[in-house]
Amino acid sequence: MTADAMDRSRFDHVPERIEGLVDLAFNLWWSWHPSARMLFKQVNAHAWKESRHNPVQMLQEIPEDYLRRAAQNREYLRRYDIIMERYQEYMARKNSWFTEEYATSRPFTVAYFSAEYGLHHSLPFYAGGLGFLAGDHLKECSDLGVPLVAVGFMYAAGYLHQHIGPDGSQMNVEERLNRDAAPITRVLDPSGKQIVLPVPHINLPISVAVWKVQVGRIPLYLLDTDIPENAPEHRSISHRLYSGNKEQRLLQEIVLGIGGRKVLSYLGVHYAGVHINEGHPAFALVERVRERVGEGQSFEDALAQVRGTTVFTTHTPVPAGTDIFPAEMIDRYFSTYYRCLGIERERFLALGAAPGDPGGNFNMTVFAMRMSAHHNAVSQRHGEVTRAMWQGIWPGLPEERVPIDVITNGVHLPTWLNDRMELLLDRYIGAVCPCWQMEHDCPVIWDLVDEIPDEELWDLHIWLKAKLINRIRERKRRTWAEHRDMPENIVAEGVLLNPTVLTIGFARRFSTYKRADLIFHDLERLKRIVNNRWRPVQIVFAGKAHPADVEGQQILQRIYSFARSPDFGGKIAFVEDYGEQVAQYLVHGVDLWLNNPLPPMEASGTSGMKAAINGVLNLSILDGWWIEGYNGRNGWAFGGEYIVGDRTAADANAIYELLEKEIVPLYYDTDMHGVPHGWVRAMKESIKSNAPQFCARRMVKEYVTHYYPKMLAAAGTPFSDLGNEE
Ligand SMILES: *Cc1c(COP(=O)(O)O)cnc(C)c1O
Repeated sequence: MTADAMDRSRFDHVPERIEGLVDLAFNLWWSWHPSARMLFKQVNAHAWKESRHNPVQMLQEIPEDYLRRAAQNREYLRRYDIIMERYQEYMARKNSWFTEEYATSRPFTVAYFSAEYGLHHSLPFYAGGLGFLAGDHLKECSDLGVPLVAVGFMYAAGYLHQHIGPDGSQMNVEERLNRDAAPITRVLDPSGKQIVLPVPHINLPISVAVWKVQVGRIPLYLLDTDIPENAPEHRSISHRLYSGNKEQRLLQEIVLGIGGRKVLSYLGVHYAGVHINEGHPAFALVERVRERVGEGQSFEDALAQVRGTTVFTTHTPVPAGTDIFPAEMIDRYFSTYYRCLGIERERFLALGAAPGDPGGNFNMTVFAMRMSAHHNAVSQRHGEVTRAMWQGIWPGLPEERVPIDVITNGVHLPTWLNDRMELLLDRYIGAVCPCWQMEHDCPVIWDLVDEIPDEELWDLHIWLKAKLINRIRERKRRTWAEHRDMPENIVAEGVLLNPTVLTIGFARRFSTYKRADLIFHDLERLKRIVNNRWRPVQIVFAGKAHPADVEGQQILQRIYSFARSPDFGGKIAFVEDYGEQVAQYLVHGVDLWLNNPLPPMEASGTSGMKAAINGVLNLSILDGWWIEGYNGRNGWAFGGEYIVGDRTAADANAIYELLEKEIVPLYYDTDMHGVPHGWVRAMKESIKSNAPQFCARRMVKEYVTHYYPKMLAAAGTPFSDLGNEE
């Protein structure tokens, strides 16, 4: 019933012969198909770079001349025709893993709700790992043909660029999203106006405008409150992720859940199941109940049906990480809503009451657990922690029988595997197994990695490391004049890095539990490791601290002061503005990926997976995914023992020991041509063992096979949001 809006007049200058580029630009399919990205770059490499690899912006800004020239270049057109055909074939494909697997059952769609999505750096809708997990989930569903519709937020002020001041303090430079230069489209009503809908039944008039991002075959609908229909104080609800203000945050979650559900029903999207990523969107579930109650079902019946068709994935291993709202605050917005549900206030609040809580609080994780029959944690260890944490929700059940399953996270391989690495793998794996990209979750094909000559893998790795270091320098060269940086800061930001030196990467949000400064515990010992004359080591840090996180900013400042210090000789670097793009360079280009959170706080962690599949070895504490990933040959592990009290010294010592005794010697043990065969063997082992296990393909298949049949069974007789999609 609705058409996507795309104001084509902005692209009138694109010649007809290559006008498919406009469609391609508005489907993030290009972001995980290197050949499609090349198609934009080949129009003009400079314009591509200037647009920060955003094809929508590029097509709008580029002089017509360049486009005309491309449209007349036979070589360009040949490539254009091939890529466009591949794209159209992908979009129209009828057969997929999903259709083959579920040929006999009725196809049905699942609605996926998440407060953040990490898809590409041109879309600032993420804060960290949770967002990339959601983004990778969508891309993989698209590849596998899993029918999914996603809902999220338009964070128009989502980008806080990080700039580090002379004293190492983090400055947050806001960049507002230019909606017209991003790969998003307005969703229109039949009259051609953008859809604007009120969030129903809450005690506040708030409306949302609807946008769409096309992620391959998966549509992601984004809600935007920054519209004239809303009171000025409500326009900012969708400005920024995870507001520090509790009330604002509650409003965000109401808009995401209730507004999101409303948008899907208005659009006529039929779905039989709901998957909520973390507790933030859990109000979507109560809105599903309300609709059924409105159609005459009893609250308890409706609840049972909604529960049976809902998967809730929890990512928070600490109680403090969950959103808790005071009951009065919930009353403020939901007092009418209780009535629409046909229940008393107490019954509603009881759904969000944590076991053991003296009362008066509404816990979104507990609420999500009670509103869903299917729950999962994101690594085996996280499963144990989560079952212990929420055992009280199922009184009488012993801990091991608490119904929280595990589906370990994975990363979308085509997004995170470097293009050149993929080409190299294709030469050796593809030679024997031409369809390996379609079967990359199958472990045996990865044994072919052993056929890659050590020299070839090593040469590529060194090339990627040089590329990382070049990019760090080039960035600094560009911002130096603009920021009037002091020379020490230029050094601190990595211009003295050397591609022949063993390079450790540490990049993640600067949350305290991640302990970014752990390696500085014993400064003298670290100096000896770093400044070793024959076998030096350098460390590259990157990451943003939340603007409200004072402690995180202090840790950052501390690291920055070491990076500035001549004591480390330019071998400690801090790279500004960690985001998707910087992450790509780092997980491809460093030698060793360091991970030392305070266990058991890292539910899974995914950046180490991105590194591992590119042959970057992990040095990680045994927490999250690494407990499952480490096999004794594919990297290093420490800290598996339970320690009462402060474990800082023990963990730091374990890192120093491993570096001194194993890692540094292995790295510098090279043949006459500079190839460290022992290290390369570990790189191959890392790729082989981790790629099939920690890819999003394995993960999405598990979600589907584990939960879809159960949800379909629970859906039983068709009800209002289960469509006939044959
Ligand atoms: C993968 C990724 C993360 C998550 O990394 P963790 O190891 O889970 O902390 C965060 N930010 C960016 C930009 C990423 O690419």
